[in-house]
Amino acid sequence: MPRGSNTRQPARSGRQEGVPHNLPSSSLRPKSRASSDQKTSDRKTKVAAVVSKAAKGYNPLAPGRIAEILKRLDELYPDVTCALTHTSAWELLVATILSAQSTDVNVNRVTPELFRKYPTVEAFAALTPEQLEPDVRSTGFFRNKSKSVVGAAKKIVADFGGQVPLEMEDLLTLPGVARKTANVVLGSWFKKAEGVVVDTHVHRISRRLELTTNNDPQKIEQDLMRIIPREKWILFSHQIIWHGRKLCIARKPKCVDCPLENLCHAADKTWSTVEMHKNAKA
Ligand code: SF4
Repeated sequence: MPRGSNTRQPARSGRQEGVPHNLPSSSLRPKSRASSDQKTSDRKTKVAAVVSKAAKGYNPLAPGRIAEILKRLDELYPDVTCALTHTSAWELLVATILSAQSTDVNVNRVTPELFRKYPTVEAFAALTPEQLEPDVRSTGFFRNKSKSVVGAAKKIVADFGGQVPLEMEDLLTLPGVARKTANVVLGSWFKKAEGVVVDTHVHRISRRLELTTNNDPQKIEQDLMRIIPREKWILFSHQIIWHGRKLCIARKPKCVDCPLENLCHAADKTWSTVEMHKNAKA
């Protein structure tokens, strides 16, 4: 199987189906033997134009293509959930704040002892950020994270009766909480689909799959909310995050093992049966 790009063209559906075979027969049928070289040349130009038009007609957001991607993700990752260990909305909020620029494995190493030491949101609210720093140091960026966690705890106690709010606009008033963290808590704990979690995996893979051309997480989220059915928002995020961990890793994605391979035209694929698109990259 050849590696890299080949001569096949993507169809309108977004699926790789080979060179278009719906060219007008008149454009392919030989003319009389008396045709001049000029006529032959004209015909070649015409065929090339039709092929080129078909290639340009590729729409990465075609509903059929999106539906096929979602179907394959469902088959690959039918029951995935959030990998951060937690037993309450507060614990999930803290774990998500700590997961920035870190790994879930790393965070899960820290949080059991952290929640044993400070079992309630009030216990966190009674701390200074400096007191929390040693407990979260190994997750990286520990000064900012300590400020965010303690600040969020104080605000939840002061303004929300000690309960993590379940409205997006309220969550966004908490220190250190942006839409990604709010979407994790709303989706995974409260089962409310208010948006799509855009973390580093969703960012990278959405671009590779040409579901967005944006780089800004909020714009990526808006793009995904437009093309993914709302009832899929929560599961889709989990599926893409798992796909990013298992196969579509940042460096050297495992394309040869990927069930999405023939739907994916990413520029940085490591193996391909379809044309690769230079702008489809992380
Ligand atoms: S084919 Fe490769 S780049 Fe595309 S989604 Fe799969 S692993 Fe990622």
